[in-house]
This record gives sequence, C-alpha cells and structure tokens, in this order.
Amino acid sequence: MPVKSTAIIGAGVAGLTLALSLAQKGIASEIFEQADELREVGAGLQLSPNATRVLRELGLLNRLRSLWTEPESIDLRSGETLKTYVSLPVGKVAEDRWSAPYGVVHRATLQRVLLEAVRANSLCRLHLGLRLDMKQPGDILPYCDRKPDLIVGADGVWSRARNLVPGAPQSVFTGNVAWRLVVPFADVPPVLPRNRVTAYMAPGAHLICYPLKDGGGFNMVAITGGVDPGETWGTNGEPKRVSALRSKFSKWHPSLQALLSRHDDLLYWPLCQATDGNWHNGRNVVLIGDAAHAMMPFMAQGAASAIEDAHALARIVSQKPLEAALPAFEALRKPRASKLKARAEFNCRVYHARGLLRLGRDIAMAIRPQASYMADLDWIYGHSA
Ligand SMILES: Cc1cc2nc3c(=O)[nH]c(=O)nc-3n(C[C@H](O)[C@H](O)[C@H](O)COP(=O)(O)OP(=O)(O)OC[C@H]3O[C@@H](n4cnc5c(N)ncnc54)[C@H](O)[C@@H]3O)c2cc1C
Repeated sequence: MPVKSTAIIGAGVAGLTLALSLAQKGIASEIFEQADELREVGAGLQLSPNATRVLRELGLLNRLRSLWTEPESIDLRSGETLKTYVSLPVGKVAEDRWSAPYGVVHRATLQRVLLEAVRANSLCRLHLGLRLDMKQPGDILPYCDRKPDLIVGADGVWSRARNLVPGAPQSVFTGNVAWRLVVPFADVPPVLPRNRVTAYMAPGAHLICYPLKDGGGFNMVAITGGVDPGETWGTNGEPKRVSALRSKFSKWHPSLQALLSRHDDLLYWPLCQATDGNWHNGRNVVLIGDAAHAMMPFMAQGAASAIEDAHALARIVSQKPLEAALPAFEALRKPRASKLKARAEFNCRVYHARGLLRLGRDIAMAIRPQASYMADLDWIYGHSA
C-alpha cells in the first residue's frame, strides 16, 4: 500500500522540500529538527534551474524571486590577474534554455520560504528542538503523533539516521575547508563585477563571489586546503586560522586580498563528502540530501540535489508500495548524484590546478567555445526531477 504518513528527520532544504512535496500528494509528515529555532546558518546558495523548477511546482518561485538576485552570468576568472577565462550567460538565457530561472539567495531565506509554506500546510507538522539519534526505526515512535509508514533521514552531512540503514554512506573530510564572509556592497571595488557569480581561481584555492540582495552584501566563499574542525558549521575563525587563510591568498590580486583582509568575521566550514553506500533499509527507512550523497560545493549542486531527491521521493512513494518504492528511488537518484559528485571533484582539480595542469587548463579554457560549455550544463540544469 502506498505511504500515508512519514517522519522526516531534519528540517533543512531536503526535509522541508520533502514535507511540501509529500503534502502535494496528500501524504502527511512530521518533521523533527534538532535546532530550537531555524536561524541563519551558512552562506549563499546558487539555485540552478533543476532546483527552481521543483520550487516552482511547489508554488514558491514567485516569493523567492522577490528575495533573490538573478545573476547575468557565471564567470571563471584568474584570482591573480582577474583575467576572465570563461563567461556563461544565465539570467534570461538560463530561463530560455532550461525553462526555469537561476537565482542566488541566502540559505536562511530559502529555509524561511520553505518553512512558511510548511507551517501553512495542515499536512505538515514541525517539531523543533528534538535531536534524534536512533538505534532502530521503532525508536521514533515515542516522538510521533501517529505511527509513520516511512522514516526519512534528511539530517545532513553528519546524519545519525544513517545508523538505521545497514551499509549506509559515511561522511569523510575532503581536506578542503570553506571560509565565508559577507562584504557590504560599498566595499566592493568596481573591478569586481557585482551582478555575476564569479569563481576566482589560483593554485590551491578559489574564491566564489556573488551578490546577496537578502543578505545585505557581497557573498564571498574562499575554499582552500585546511584541517578538520569536526562536526561543526560556521565556526568563527580563530586568529591563527584566519592568518593562515590570508597567507594562502598572498599572491592574489590586491583588490581580492583587500576584501579578505578587511573583515575578521570569517566563518569556517569543513567540506565533507559521503562515501558510496545504501540509501534505504529495504523496509521503511530512506536517506535523502546530504545524508545520502554529500558532495563538495564545486558544482553548487548539493542543495539542488536535495531538492530533486525530495520531489522524486514524494512522487515514487505516492505511486508504489514501499518495498518497490525505496529501491526505485535509489536506482533513479544514485547514478545522478554520483555523476554530480564526480563533476564536483573534477572541478576541484581544475579550479585549484598548479603547474603544468594549470597551464593546460588555461589553454583549454581559452579555446573551448562558449556553446560547448553551455551544452555541457544541459544534463545538470535541464534535468526534471
Ligand atoms: C560552502 C558551501 C557552499 C555551498 N553552496 C551551494 C550552492 O551554491 N548550491 C547548492 O545547491 N548547494 C550548495 N551547498 C551544499 C548545500 O548546502 C547542501 O548540500 C544542502 O544544504 C543539503 O541539504 P540537506 O537538507 O540534506 O542538509 P542540511 O541543509 O544540512 O539540513 C539538515 C538538517 O537536519 C538537522 N539535523 C541534523 N542532525 C539531526 C538530528 N540528529 N536530529 C534532528 N535534526 C537533525 C540540521 O539541524 C539541519 O537543519 C554548499 C555547501 C557548502 C558547505
């Protein structure tokens, strides 16, 4: 029999999108979130057409559009000379080519928009301040108003719900860390474009910049090699770590160095990936989003994939009995998540290239036509979950 009620662990992008997607199919859910309130966590998010298509189906796109920025292009530039290697138009071009817009928004804004919709939906019930760390599926029963047919682990990169799935993926530190800061627009020199997503590249590091209309400034995320601070997001950078970060950018263009050195409120994240593993227990537990397939942010597809997962899972469990639905979900989603993860790893090598590899990259980027880059994005942005 198809699912009637679900318990979702985690009210992040995956969990909230799932609750809304299930509600569209008439399926009730209870969502359990460890945080007492959903506050600002994290930085900006690029939301590509494969994700915004789902958000439009959920009726959230107009609200988001009033809060986000649609950048003109995604550019790859040198972090040392600011030379532009590649510029890929998004804006209107994205909407025409992939039938949905490309936007940049603060993570907290996306979460707020999802949360408002969840709170307004009588099929969704949110429990805050409950950290679930279960040994077996039945452990969830004391927390639920009604017995769930399905338990979904949407509890992110350090998922505890993985304990309910034999052979589940595990989280592994990649050796890379991300530093985030938001710079007031007034501090951004004219030489740095404000209306684009720009990835500045140099050996061993890159820096992503884009405007956050809702975040009050210019979002900057610097990614370099670093040490693992453990299971924590958004730790304030200790002075020793901040000066280590700045030393990695000492050969960068002065305008970028100045932005990184002017502000001390840098937040620090470890970048982890999920290993390959089982996404469901064959009966009544399934993992989605980062819990299933955390990937590095070098293709900006982690949240987008979480949104795709949520929509696909809701459709499949509304059509098939669980014993068929869970393998069908994994068979549908895993190859795509693996391909995106591999692409993010490839981009890491390209962005951080040194020596001869870097030389080869620069030549390849100089001769590759823009149309070929755009065609290469079709399988990612054109996908319909
Ligand atoms: C620097 C950086 C930049 C990124 N940029 C982009 C981008 O531009 N575009 C993009 O698509 N993706 C991006 N990502 C990836 C994206 O942030 C993640 O893939 C996405 O947030 C995953 O969503 P999720 O819902 O699976 O997990 P999360 O968003 O982490 O949500 C998990 C939720 O579960 C809760 N939780 C955890 N454990 C428990 C528990 N035991 N009990 C109850 N609740 C629990 C957490 O509090 C949290 O609310 C980026 C990531 C990083 C690090």
